[in-house]
Amino acid sequence: MANNIGWNFDNSYTRLPSSFYSCLPLNRVQAPKLVILNEAVAESLGLDTRALQRPESIEILAGNEVPSGAIPLAQAYAGHQFGHFNMLGDGRALLLGEQMTPTGERYDIGLKGSGRTPYSRGGDGRAALGPMLREYIISEAMYALGIPTSRSLAVVTTGETIIRETELPGAILTRVASSHLRVGTFQYVAQWGTDEELQILADYAIERHFPTIDQTQPNRYLSLLQEVMERQAKLIAQWQLVGFIHGVMNTDNMTISGETIDYGPCAFMDTYNPATVFSSIDRQGRYAYGNQPPIGGWNISRFAETLLPLIHNNEEEAVILAQEVIQQYPQLYYTNWLAGMRAKLGIFNEEEQDAKLVEELLTLMEKYDADYTNTFRALTFTKCEGTDLFNSAEFTNWYEQWQARREKQEESEAASQQLMRDNNPAIIPRNHRVEEALEAAVTHGDYRVMEKLLQALSQPFAHTSNQEEYATLPAPSNCPYQTFCGT
Ligand code: AMP
Ligand code: MG
Repeated sequence: MANNIGWNFDNSYTRLPSSFYSCLPLNRVQAPKLVILNEAVAESLGLDTRALQRPESIEILAGNEVPSGAIPLAQAYAGHQFGHFNMLGDGRALLLGEQMTPTGERYDIGLKGSGRTPYSRGGDGRAALGPMLREYIISEAMYALGIPTSRSLAVVTTGETIIRETELPGAILTRVASSHLRVGTFQYVAQWGTDEELQILADYAIERHFPTIDQTQPNRYLSLLQEVMERQAKLIAQWQLVGFIHGVMNTDNMTISGETIDYGPCAFMDTYNPATVFSSIDRQGRYAYGNQPPIGGWNISRFAETLLPLIHNNEEEAVILAQEVIQQYPQLYYTNWLAGMRAKLGIFNEEEQDAKLVEELLTLMEKYDADYTNTFRALTFTKCEGTDLFNSAEFTNWYEQWQARREKQEESEAASQQLMRDNNPAIIPRNHRVEEALEAAVTHGDYRVMEKLLQALSQPFAHTSNQEEYATLPAPSNCPYQTFCGT
């Protein structure tokens, strides 16, 4: 296939032991059609956006043709799903290859919904249009919020229907990530591979994501554990600060790079409540909003277990060393979160009572069913009126304490407000607005609602007038919003 699009693949994953993946032929689809293309992502990858829209490119985005230099493969991995260990792997995704960008960065280019693989188990390997557009919207919103994430290059429809509860239009998402190495990749090799293979994987992860770790240093695998933990602690703090609920924090969905991946049953919280769960299959609330930070710690412990043979040849010693690292996780998470909360409240320096000030606000928000995003937005613009929370005497009291705290700092009020503007989004992808955009696109083939939403989401800290309408809350409903897995 002629390469005038800008593909520039170098496939380091194929140089790893062959048990780590399965090379596959492509599964052709009937009648691919490009429905959305992310020009900003295309450009950052060094791809020609005009050329990408030509039929021969669309064949590539649909998995009908292999771009020159690509070597399609499905990655093997395992994972704890809701606490239970399973063999998994890319059951409906293919890694086309690693694109080297004009600035020398390496990105995985993957197709999601591209058909069956040796890891599909009972699944059809396919994806429906609605969930692929949903991933596109939410991943782009996360990126704009400054949260590490995989990104979405394009969605194509396949011209085929897939069977779920009803027949749905099939689609393929082209996903871009700094890698798809997961805690589950390490679990797979630790469980079924040799120690030598484990070391190859760990060295590969260090080279790809943590090049500052000296590869010759004897305890480099402890450094790897430390770095992955730090990135995950920071990532999950960022999720909490914007009210993002991943929904399926299984170890196979937790990256080594510290990027958010696998947008399945995720959603943003409207009303503040730590018990919020959207996923229909999460009946125990394992992945509820308030549980995400400890689950991040649980997942890091699973990662640490896989590294034990590399950390020390005496297992007891290895456990002691690993524990010294992972016991820092709760504090590390909390420090990141509290720093973010200070910024959301316009506070620059640290004082001991800050934690109490934040906790008190959250307690009141929960008590008065306050909207998470809009409460911080109102505080930013000191427009605290018209809600039960703002009308309460407890809030007035809290507000005075908060003002006193802000006045005590050296920075001006204007600077404090700017800090708040930069940390409290004007807009999040609210579920009812996302659904509205998907409905128009999937049912009516009208992508304008989605384009407009994406536009408003692209600069969440701009606080422009066209974002106002997206602050409106959903109408009260008897059936809580639910999201579905494996969709
Ligand atoms: P997820 O919940 O998306 O992280 O997926 C969990 C596992 O199920 C992964 O191994 C996926 O590849 C696999 N999977 C999800 N949906 C399908 C499908 N439609 N066909 C085959 N495998 C799937
Ligand atoms: Mg997954």
